[in-house]
Formats: sequence, C-alpha cells, structure tokens
Amino acid sequence: MKKFLIIANWKLNNTKDNISEFLKYLNIYLLDNNQKNIISIAPSFIYLEKLSREIKYKNFFITAQNVDINLQGAFTGEISVLMLKDIGVQYVILGHSERRILHHENNNIIAKKFSLVKKYHLTPILCIGETEKEKKLNKTYEILKNQINSIFEICGTESFRNTVIAYEPIWAIGTGKSADIEYVQKIHKFIKNYIIQYDHLSLDSLMIQYGGSITSLNAREFLEQMDVDGLLIGTASLQYKEFLKIVKISNNIY
Ligand code: PEP
Repeated sequence: MKKFLIIANWKLNNTKDNISEFLKYLNIYLLDNNQKNIISIAPSFIYLEKLSREIKYKNFFITAQNVDINLQGAFTGEISVLMLKDIGVQYVILGHSERRILHHENNNIIAKKFSLVKKYHLTPILCIGETEKEKKLNKTYEILKNQINSIFEICGTESFRNTVIAYEPIWAIGTGKSADIEYVQKIHKFIKNYIIQYDHLSLDSLMIQYGGSITSLNAREFLEQMDVDGLLIGTASLQYKEFLKIVKISNNIY
C-alpha cells in the first residue's frame, strides 16, 4: 500500500479567520476518515503554532516554508531550526524556486540549511527543478544533478536518508500548466536512480513529491505514477474544498 505525503504550501497567503475555517473542515474530514497518508500544511511562520494547537488529528504534521542558515544570534527577522523544533514542526521546505529566485538562495546555502535541518532531526523537503529555458536546452538532468550534488558535497553520501525531494519544474509552478505525467514519472525515476548510485538507501526512506499546478482534476494521474510519492500543492491548497478533494483522492489510491 502506498503512503503519500501531501503538503499544502500556503506561501504568503491566508490569515487567522480563513485558517480557522480551513482547519475546522480539515479536522472534520480527518477525524471522520482514516488516513493512510501523511497530510501537512506549510503556513506562514506566525501561524505554525495555531496549526499545532487546532489540528486534532494525530497523523498530521506541520511544515515550515523555510529556515535560517544560522542557529541563533544577531540575525534580525530570521527563524531558526531550534525554534521550529521547539514548537513541534516536522518538515522544512528548502530551496523552493521562489527562495532561489526572489531571495537569491543558491545550492550552497540550501545545502547548509539541509544539513542543519537534518542535524536537528527535522525532515528537509528539498525542492529541485529546471526553468523553462533549461528544459528547452535539454539541461534538465544537469540542473537536477547539480542541485543534488551540492547536498552530497556538504552533507555526505547518506544525506538523502529519511528526507523528501519535491520535483518542481519552475515553469509549472503557479502557471496552471502542469508537467506531462510521463515526463514527471521519468524524472522521478531518474532522481531515485541517481541517488542510489551513491547511496544504496532503502527507497522507503526517500520520498519524491511532484509540485506544479496540481488540482483536484489532475492529482489522481500523478499519484498513480510508480515513482510519485506525494504532492506539494500551492494554489490549489488555499481553499479547503479543493485541498480536501485532493486529500480524498490520495486516500483512494493504493
Ligand atoms: C509550489 O509553489 O510549490 C507549487 C507547487 O505551486 P502551485 O501548486 O501553485 O503550482
């Protein structure tokens, strides 16, 4: 039986009132329906604790959208892994393309954050993916290898054990133009095979999510692919009705 990891990435969206409404319906659904999957939400930092207080379902985990590269000290405006751990966060998204592009995070910075997150026993979700231009130039594999290699270089060959990779082609994020299903399956298989070359890890210990314009209309086809272990969902996760539809779909695929 396949156990998926389904994560809502709320980015810079939602406020107290609609979060409360969202969590009310999510609680009702999760408490009434046994889940085989792991369901999580990545809200803005200031709502992480609200989630941990209000979600009643035990198999629910909290995800942070980012973390600072430093543990503590004079870094105004940052949030450290110690703080995330302190309030019960489980997963931390790293290297989302919006962080890479808008906040100039490079592979090296992301690898250092990855190492810190692992050191404190939280689970990193490493986002990797190519731009449209790189895809057209047939550079996808090279880009993915570079993104993975930087983790190997800083964290060692066993770095991907008990972690998550989110394959998110940048051209598919927030565009309404999801990647082809066969393309995604091929890329996920490539990622697994590439990592296995360096570390014969059990494939149970590495999950690969797909992210990029997932909706309740296409979620099933992606989840039915052999090497798709879950979904990272942006736009479609903002409304509870749409997110719950996807959660229900994931629960009916084995
Ligand atoms: C994302 O930003 O991680 C994402 C997948 O967004 P969307 O679902 O809106 O494409």
